[in-house]
Amino acid sequence: MNLHYKSTRNSDVKVTASQAILTGLAPDGGLFVPDCIPKLDVSMKELKDMSYQETAYTVMKQFLTDFTEEELKACIEKAYDSKFDTEEIAPLVKVDDDYYLELFHGATIAFKDMALSILPHLLTTSAKKNNVKNEIVILTATSGDTGKAAMAGFANVEGTKIIVFYPKNGVSKVQELQMVTQKGSNVDVVAIHGNFDNAQSGVKAMFENKKLAEDLAAKGYQFSSANSINIGRLVPQVAYYVYAYAKLLANDEVAEGEKINVVVPTGNFGNILAAYYARQMGTPIDKLICASNENKVLFDFFQTGTYDKNREFMLTTSPSMDILISSNLERLIYLITGEDCEQTRAFMEELKNGGSYTITPEMKEKLSDFAAGYATEKETLDSIRTLYNRTGYVIDTHTAVASHVCDEYRKNTKDDKKCVIASTASPYKFVKSVMCAVDEKNAEGDELTLLEKLKEVSGVEMPQAIRDILDAKVLHDIECDVDKMEETVRAILEV
Ligand SMILES: *Cc1c(COP(=O)(O)O)cnc(C)c1O
Repeated sequence: MNLHYKSTRNSDVKVTASQAILTGLAPDGGLFVPDCIPKLDVSMKELKDMSYQETAYTVMKQFLTDFTEEELKACIEKAYDSKFDTEEIAPLVKVDDDYYLELFHGATIAFKDMALSILPHLLTTSAKKNNVKNEIVILTATSGDTGKAAMAGFANVEGTKIIVFYPKNGVSKVQELQMVTQKGSNVDVVAIHGNFDNAQSGVKAMFENKKLAEDLAAKGYQFSSANSINIGRLVPQVAYYVYAYAKLLANDEVAEGEKINVVVPTGNFGNILAAYYARQMGTPIDKLICASNENKVLFDFFQTGTYDKNREFMLTTSPSMDILISSNLERLIYLITGEDCEQTRAFMEELKNGGSYTITPEMKEKLSDFAAGYATEKETLDSIRTLYNRTGYVIDTHTAVASHVCDEYRKNTKDDKKCVIASTASPYKFVKSVMCAVDEKNAEGDELTLLEKLKEVSGVEMPQAIRDILDAKVLHDIECDVDKMEETVRAILEV
């Protein structure tokens, strides 16, 4: 069956998967969505014996129907290889009664690697399939983790360039060092004097800027996006939820067909949307539990039906979730409008112009597959500490938000289904906050000196990604104001 992709804002737009990956954002500003969410065509019984790569192929082939078997398998082999520090790729770790799906074993020790290690290959394959001769310029806004994962994925990939924007004071020391030390002749990174939403809006404006696109084309360039709005990010993420369930079954942790809940620490709504797609494909997931930090715009949305970004932007210890505009929510909005492009566009216009919109009661009813919670800063650190004291297992701040929300959800609802918690970053990446939580007296000093201490308390080896930055040279130092992003891109590309 051939699947096509439509824009959430215009039903006339219809493209193949490879075209959707190449373009990133639809020309009308909408997001690409599959015209139907396919059902898994193999049983969980078969899936439970599959490797990560085999599972990824099984899931992804149903979404990327214009890729040949050979093309897709080549992408998967290149992505999920020894860059990951475990053959399992995404190990499922049982801690007490919960299951932590560790998505941080890739090159940059955050879950973004799950998609960004494969996106460059999907993108260059898509370019070939569509006879694209232009060099592809990836523009990316990052709240810290996407940027490095994208740079690592695209570094020295022929036919591509990548420019990353991050908020100067909005990322951790480790995150910043990871980015500014990135090697590769085709990578640039820019610190902006603003927050993540400024960076994301700036990038979106450049994608929609026709004059800029023309000037780029004249120089043999075209833009694409590595942000989680790209369907090439979303589709690979569906695979690990299917994989997690199959592992539960393989380990006799669930009976066949037994439903589980999934808790996802959420920012841009990409990861949890992938879980939703996995559910719609037939994975026995009951509730999708959306966990927010103090930027709890999604929590409020699920409570009230009003999405309202008009509020103070908080800098938290889970910076990759410091987001007030969760772009991928548009894909869910589209589904709950009954795939109504006009209505979806109207909501997004309201969001752009006034900063808020309210869905209808009928739409809100369709959100019953979701639950939502949030963790304050204190609750986040408490959650790390109590889990550590009880079990010795150390989680990062983002995962801790989810862990807290999971506990609260259980307490409040008495729903005792097994829970898979998406564990989105290595504690090493957020070492300062993690050390403050587990061993406050010894958490003084520089982030870099705390790495050794974390090794002692966690008993987990320092990942290669951390060892790499300890003595790497700073290679990037460009900064710019929010209103100078286009100028900066033009300067870098000489257009
Ligand atoms: C990006 C990120 C998130 C949020 O994921 P979304 O797909 O944007 O919702 C959570 N945790 C970490 C560590 C991240 O890097």
